[in-house]
Amino acid sequence: MAAFQENTTEIIKSHLNIVDVVGSYIKLDKAGAHYKANCPFHQERSPSFMVNDERNMWHCFGCGKGGDIFAFVMEIEGLQFREALVLLAEKAGVELPQYRQESQGSKDTKERLVAIMELAVRFYEHQLWEGAGKIKALPYLRKRGLSDETIRKFRLGYAPDGWRHFREFAESKGYTVNELETVGMIIAKAETADGAPASLGKAYDRFRDRIMFPITDILGRPIGFSARVAPGGDESQAKYINTPESPLYHKSRALYGLSWAKQAMKQVGCTVVVEGNVDVIALSQAGIENVVAVSGTALTGEQLDIMRRYGKEVHLFFDMDGAGQKAARKSTELALEKELNVKLIALSHGKDAADMGAENPEELKRIVMAPVAAPQYFLEGIVAAHSRETGEGKRAIVDDFTQLLITIKNPLERSFWIKELARGAGLEERLVTGVVNQAFLEKTRRDGPEMTVPFQTTPKSSFASRKERIAEEVMALFLTQPVLRKEFLGSLDPEVKTFLAKQPLFFFVLQAGEHDPLSLIEDKELKGLATGLAFRLLDGPEFADLSEGEIAEKSRALLQEYLAILLEEVGKNEKLRTIEGALAEARKNNNKEEELRLLQEFVELSRS
Ligand SMILES: [Zn+2]
Repeated sequence: MAAFQENTTEIIKSHLNIVDVVGSYIKLDKAGAHYKANCPFHQERSPSFMVNDERNMWHCFGCGKGGDIFAFVMEIEGLQFREALVLLAEKAGVELPQYRQESQGSKDTKERLVAIMELAVRFYEHQLWEGAGKIKALPYLRKRGLSDETIRKFRLGYAPDGWRHFREFAESKGYTVNELETVGMIIAKAETADGAPASLGKAYDRFRDRIMFPITDILGRPIGFSARVAPGGDESQAKYINTPESPLYHKSRALYGLSWAKQAMKQVGCTVVVEGNVDVIALSQAGIENVVAVSGTALTGEQLDIMRRYGKEVHLFFDMDGAGQKAARKSTELALEKELNVKLIALSHGKDAADMGAENPEELKRIVMAPVAAPQYFLEGIVAAHSRETGEGKRAIVDDFTQLLITIKNPLERSFWIKELARGAGLEERLVTGVVNQAFLEKTRRDGPEMTVPFQTTPKSSFASRKERIAEEVMALFLTQPVLRKEFLGSLDPEVKTFLAKQPLFFFVLQAGEHDPLSLIEDKELKGLATGLAFRLLDGPEFADLSEGEIAEKSRALLQEYLAILLEEVGKNEKLRTIEGALAEARKNNNKEEELRLLQEFVELSRS
């Protein structure tokens, strides 16, 4: 089985370019022999995330994570190895014939849950186009200006009125009530608020007489629904309800539309955030694709982290009524703390993006393309709300805007807005600077030390002995050069081999043969250690500006040199141990002369 897996992963790797795969998630910039990016796995200001094309690996010097293409996809998608295998096999066009038959306990369970959601999407789609939704929902969607093509693209559906349509359909396909409850498709306990008749027993459909918007994960697999009351339906119910938290659906991470938007988000380096699902769809139809919506929650830090993988700009397109203003302000501060550039797209009152998209898509486009810097927008609002003629008014302006300014970490940017604030309030800049900086310091103290991982160029190594440092270099050479493994591993000096075996990576070097050792390492920390060593070696002075051929040659020479040093050091150790033994013997025999001679020899040897 292991052999099968090893081969498959390597076939997949040979079909895919790591730069393309990683580059489909984050923006990579060419930097010397590697590609660089801001790490998607920890927050940072300057890029310490590296990808090497030639060696099929990535490493972050900030958080220490690293590995191959599989490790990256597992980490960024939150997948198990098997799931990453399926995903990348599909990308690579490699078939996995034996995969399906293996029963894998919990992984099977998760796949079944995903299958239920896909079944539900198809069921509701069918109901929309062929069933009751044809009359109850489709005309409404068309009236809102959505084309049939768009409705199909976003896989909209209709959940028919009634208590157990989907439950019975899913049960007929072999799914259990328990599974259906786990993904939130049915409600197992009679919830009185929902008014389910007691005679229906315990489990009934959560979504009834609603227009269904499938929420997908980043790969486009349905994980939940946002469901709107059908026109003419029971308006006493909430207008929108969403899937509850489930093993698939986490509302603080979910972004409606992400799988359709991510390509465009990366291209323009910007995400437009709207309030409603219909807005996402309307903008997409108008040709603006980099749009997502949060469903049933305020914008969260986790959602912003996902956006920043694709670019540093976030444009908030919120309805600016009272509640919308507040939400936009909160979201702005959260995004500024994440060091994102936040802009606002403001619509004139009483309009919404979906209506405008239907009536005048060109006008909508024009508005979306002309966002205002969020601090500017709020500053203007604050200045307009107070009188700058009175001390009280000035103070209110400064206090209010300061709360926003202290979320900006970059001092240059902050000082720019301090100037604007001083002008807006009609105060001297010096005064305002004092107030803002004081508040900023207080906030910094409140928040405690920043949670950033220090940049480590040589973790541990700086304290390691020379021998250990050389052993690490040897590991890096063996890890990156299969030719060297073939040539040197068979003929290592036994003492040197024993010494190298103390390195946790040596085991994988020995096992790898022609294969990539990274594929064999399952432990995340070890993976990071391996890629870290490899990148440090490749970036070191020895290899600067060398061609691939020269690197191979230089590697060979270096390895020979290192092994010779180790042999000498290890041999020396052996000798020292012998002297120690003789020394103990001489002491026991009270042979002072011999003891002195041996001591001298010991000191000389250990100094050399
Ligand atoms: Zn990192």
